[in-house]
Amino acid sequence: MIDLHLHTTASDGLLTPAALVATAAAAGLHTISVTDHDTTAGLAEAAAAARALGVRLIDGIEITAVEGDRDVHLLGYFFDRDDPGLRDLLLAQRTHRVARLRQMAARLAESGAAVDVDPLAASRHGKSVGRPLLADALVAAGHAADRRDAFDRYLVRGCPAFVARTGPSVGAAVDAIRAAGGVASLAHPGLLDADDRIALFVAAGVMAIEARHSDHNAAAEARYRAMADDLDVAISGGSDFHGDDRRRPIGGVTISAAELARLEARVTR
Ligand code: AMP
Ligand code: ZN
Ligand code: FE
Ligand code: FE
Repeated sequence: MIDLHLHTTASDGLLTPAALVATAAAAGLHTISVTDHDTTAGLAEAAAAARALGVRLIDGIEITAVEGDRDVHLLGYFFDRDDPGLRDLLLAQRTHRVARLRQMAARLAESGAAVDVDPLAASRHGKSVGRPLLADALVAAGHAADRRDAFDRYLVRGCPAFVARTGPSVGAAVDAIRAAGGVASLAHPGLLDADDRIALFVAAGVMAIEARHSDHNAAAEARYRAMADDLDVAISGGSDFHGDDRRRPIGGVTISAAELARLEARVTR
């Protein structure tokens, strides 16, 4: 079984890279990709654990690009994690994430939900911060019951504390992935609500669509499979496991070996 969308404590997942790989192996996965948000900091530890357990680890990333007032999540696979261009883009992303978190924390304090973000904003050794960690801080401070509750009341667009992000365009993010020898896949298009823009993303260099995802029902998967066929791109798929949501279990969404081979065939080195 193959699951190409997993998060660790290098971003907003709850399991360390080593624990994630062990959990994946126990769930019967033989090939996985760790796709943390805007960081590759978990990959070395995951690779060591994967080697020890006989699991194939494909280096992965989930980059947040920005198009207008929308975040567009792009998955990258098979890239060189030491590529300087990609490294610089990811560093800029993480720096922006910390600034945004501080802005949101200031607004939370104004609305009576003060949290201490200093531990989050402190150097995380290449790990990235995001709203789920702010959600954890809100829970710890007693302002929310759990991550979901914190998002609903404080962290989504429309809430007073929400701060829009800035970031690279889809084209710029895809260019960085491709220049590093990787292939880019449009993450969970069912959550994006921008089907009419997918052809443009493909024109910008996106080579796959994440047709299979925990939040896609059968109709959504069929729609994105058909779209991938029409646009002549591959599909990818995975659970988007973070360890915090029973609706996204590890290995709950997989792709076949043939589908992985078609994704890998898009790599142009
Ligand atoms: P950020 O990187 O700060 O944009 O946070 C995005 C991440 O937050 C996503 O990848 C999800 O893991 C999580 N997330 C987004 N929206 C929600 C929500 N409504 N409830 C819970 N988690 C969410
Ligand atoms: Zn996440
Ligand atoms: Fe995502
Ligand atoms: Fe994700």
